[in-house]
Amino acid sequence: MNEKMLGLGVSRSVIREIFEYAKLRKAEIGNDKVFDFSIGNPSVPAPESVKNELISILENTDPVSLHGYTSAQGDTSVRQAISDFIEKTYNIGKEPISSPDLIYITSGAAAALTCSLTALLNKDDEVIVLAPFFPEYRVFVERTGAKLVPVMCNNETFRPDFDKIKSAINEKTVAVIVNSPNNPTGVVYPEEDIKKLSDILSKKSKEIGHPIYIIADEPYRELVYGNTSVPYIPNFYDNTIVCYSLSKSLSLPGERIGYVSVSPRAKEAKNIYLSVCGAGRALGFVCATSMFQFMMARCLGQTSDISVYENNRNILCSALRDNGYTVVSPDGAFYLFVKALESDAKAFCEKAKEFELLLVPSDDFGCEGYVRIAYCTSEKQIRDSLPAFKKLAESYK
Ligand code: PLP
Repeated sequence: MNEKMLGLGVSRSVIREIFEYAKLRKAEIGNDKVFDFSIGNPSVPAPESVKNELISILENTDPVSLHGYTSAQGDTSVRQAISDFIEKTYNIGKEPISSPDLIYITSGAAAALTCSLTALLNKDDEVIVLAPFFPEYRVFVERTGAKLVPVMCNNETFRPDFDKIKSAINEKTVAVIVNSPNNPTGVVYPEEDIKKLSDILSKKSKEIGHPIYIIADEPYRELVYGNTSVPYIPNFYDNTIVCYSLSKSLSLPGERIGYVSVSPRAKEAKNIYLSVCGAGRALGFVCATSMFQFMMARCLGQTSDISVYENNRNILCSALRDNGYTVVSPDGAFYLFVKALESDAKAFCEKAKEFELLLVPSDDFGCEGYVRIAYCTSEKQIRDSLPAFKKLAESYK
C-alpha cells in the first residue's frame, strides 16, 4: 500500500473535520443553534438559466452523443466557446491570451490544479505559494515529489510581499500559485501587484535560465464586491496557466466542472498543454462530465446572485469590527480572515465552539493567529450569530 496516500486518507483536512463536527452538533442541538462558518459551500442557488440550459440540452441533444465520451481534453465546440469568451471578456492586447487548442476541461479547479502541477513538476522542483493559502496546494504539489515553498504575504494587507518572493526564488523554482480573490483572506490583488510580480518573475526567469510559470487559481474570479476588479494575469505575464471552475461563481461545486487554459504566449505553450493532457491521462481526469461541459459553454460569464454574499460580508464585517475584532479587508471570495483574540488560533476556535461558533484556525493555511469565517451562509445565520461573536469577544476582556 502507498503509505503517503494512506496518510492523506486517514487525516481529514481541518475544514472537513469541523464540517463533520457541525453535522453532529446540529443533530444534537438543532440546525439553527449552530453557527457553522466552516466550509466554502455556496449558499446561493445556481441561476435558473443553469437549470433551463440543462433541460434544453437534455431535450434537444441525441442522448447517445450527449452521454458519450467527448475528446479527452473536452468537446471541441465547448473549448472554442471558452476561448472566445476569454478573448472577448479579458483580452486587453492584440495577441491572443487563449486558444481552444490550449484548453483542457477538468473536474473543477482541483483537477485543473493537479493536472497543471503534474504537467510542470519534477522531483525536487519548487513551487511558491503566497501564504495564507488553500491547504490542498500542499497535497497537490507534494504528490509530484516537488516542494511547496510558502511565502508569507504582508501581515497587514495580506497582499504579496515582493522582497520575500524575490528571496524565495532559486534555480529550482518552477511555478508560483496566485489565488486572487483569495481563499482564505478574501483579498484581491490589484493590477499594480500583478505587474510587480510579473516584472520580478520575468527578471528571475532570465537569471535562472528557465521560465517560472504562474498558475492562476481562479475559482473566485467573479466573486468581487464594490468597484473591485480582478486583473486577468495572462494580460500581464506570458507564462501563465489559468485554472478555473464554476464551483463558486455559479454555485456548482458538486458538479465538478472547470478548465485549464494555457496562455498561447507562454514559452513552450504547446508542449505545456500536451503535458497537461498527459497529466490528465495519468491521473484519470479525461473527458469531464459531458452534460456540464455543454452547460458551461452556454453559461460562461453568468453568476449566481452574489449580492447575497456582499450583504453577508457587510453585516458580519461591520459587526465584528464594532466588537473589536481585526478583520482583513475583504474585497472578494466569501471568506473573512479575522485575527484570533489569543495567539493560538486553534485554542481560540475551541473557545468559539463554546458559543456554537464554528470557525477554521489559520494554521493549515500556512499562517498562525487567525481564523477563517466562510460567510456563504444564510443572512439569518449571520444575524443570529452576532450575539455569540460579541460574547466570545467579551470572554477575552
Ligand atoms: N482553489 C481554491 C483556492 C479553492 O478554495 C478551492 C475550493 O474551495 C479549489 C481550488 C477547488 O475548487 P473546485 O471545487 O472547483 O475543485
